[in-house]
Amino acid sequence: MEDERLFERLAAAGAAAPARAPARLKARIYSALVNRMAETGALRTLAASKADGGRLCVFEEAVALLPAGAGSKNPCRICHARVLGERLERAPIFWPGCPYAEFHHGSD
Ligand SMILES: [Zn+2]
Repeated sequence: MEDERLFERLAAAGAAAPARAPARLKARIYSALVNRMAETGALRTLAASKADGGRLCVFEEAVALLPAGAGSKNPCRICHARVLGERLERAPIFWPGCPYAEFHHGSD
């Protein structure tokens, strides 16, 4: 009976504090998901993503300007924030339009 109350208190304490995944874990999951998508077929070109309203980061913008073919590369491999974002918890990446920067400085 005493054990049950102890566990109820622990569960209540856990429910009050919102869990937050580490930023580097979010970055690794994002990279893995994009890699998985790239394995099953060509990704949409960066230019097409931008034309459809998608945001590109500064590195993706530069690659999107290259001749046809280059713009369809995996954005994870283009973005220089990936390496830091996957390894550091508070990576110094801050440019807009970059999912890695959002994982490290976003609100969730
Ligand atoms: Zn980026």
